[in-house]
Amino acid sequence: MNKTLVQLPSLNLESLKNMVSDWGFPAFRAKQIIDWRNKGILNPDDMRNLPQDLRTTLNQKLCCQPLKQVQRQCSEDGTRKYLFSLQSGKTIETVLIPEPERGTVCISSQVGCVLDCPFCHTGTQKFEANLTAGEIIAQVLAVKEDLRNNPLPSDLHDQVTHIVYMGMGEPMANEEALHESLKMLMAEDGLHISRRRITVSTSGLTPQIERLGEIHPVNLAISLHSALDDERNTLVPINRKYPLQTLRTCLNLYPLPHQRHITLEYLMLDGVNDRQEDLQALLQFVNPERERVNLIRFNPYPGSPYEGSPTEHMNKFAQDLISKGIRATVRRSRGQDIMAACGQLKSSAA
Ligand code: SAH
Ligand code: SF4
Repeated sequence: MNKTLVQLPSLNLESLKNMVSDWGFPAFRAKQIIDWRNKGILNPDDMRNLPQDLRTTLNQKLCCQPLKQVQRQCSEDGTRKYLFSLQSGKTIETVLIPEPERGTVCISSQVGCVLDCPFCHTGTQKFEANLTAGEIIAQVLAVKEDLRNNPLPSDLHDQVTHIVYMGMGEPMANEEALHESLKMLMAEDGLHISRRRITVSTSGLTPQIERLGEIHPVNLAISLHSALDDERNTLVPINRKYPLQTLRTCLNLYPLPHQRHITLEYLMLDGVNDRQEDLQALLQFVNPERERVNLIRFNPYPGSPYEGSPTEHMNKFAQDLISKGIRATVRRSRGQDIMAACGQLKSSAA
């Protein structure tokens, strides 16, 4: 399949209507195609109410299925990790995290990452490509299809309700596709997911954060990991370009709906960023009115250079933050048995 073809997952109803009419079919067919697409059915041959000649045309004129599932692993806790290949043969990972009341899909935005955070498995992989908006959306559609074909145990929610851009890559470094994919996720003729249910996680590219706030003010998560510039320069090297003071100003201006908070992600590394002085710096940095802290357990991977802080220490750190009026939680790690937890997404070469 030619990868320069327009990808079905990224099309809106209006553009598809125009295309369908240009191909000589009635425009109402576009709505039928979009309805199938939004359910995760991307293969024209499965779109049962379309005439055969339209199915053939779709197969010829569009790239209907930009992703191919190469592998799927299911964790004991219901988490599913998918390995998809792109048209180019490069591979990406996507994770479904089902809970009783919600289903979250963690999507990738790039193959690899340029930013080189030393604790991150993805960061150790060389940057290979930006994903297109179609490839970003197709991850969600593929999970939807899998949920229909392979239902979850009945105690877990069987729909996709939440999206987090926390898979491979730095979404803000792929800004155009990020914005286009957000538009599609939220659109009525797209997946129609509320902005309150979408979170973009970033290591802190401040001009891009500003633009996100202006254009699509979805939930924001910042990979903070240290509130000391020296230390953050090492842990999150983009800090050298956008230091904490710049980040502070940017976060103060990010638009937040009533009673919503920015999440500051704080990975706890034993003896590195979990000391008393780190706590003090964090207490100074956080704006308790607008931000909450999510302490993340380090997920080791083969060859990883750090140790996670012990659980008691993480709990104590959280308690110290809470006692100073800061909302703080310790994030439960999901899917660890299949290496699907944060920072463990690293596609093997296909
Ligand atoms: N590039 C973006 C989004 C992807 S990373 C970002 O950095 O925010 C998603 C989250 O996983 C980030 O908070 C990241 O810091 C965290 N993470 C990376 N490696 C990790 C590891 N080994 N253990 C736990 N969390 C990790
Ligand atoms: Fe890239 Fe995020 Fe990993 Fe850093 S933590 S290397 S920004 S994916």
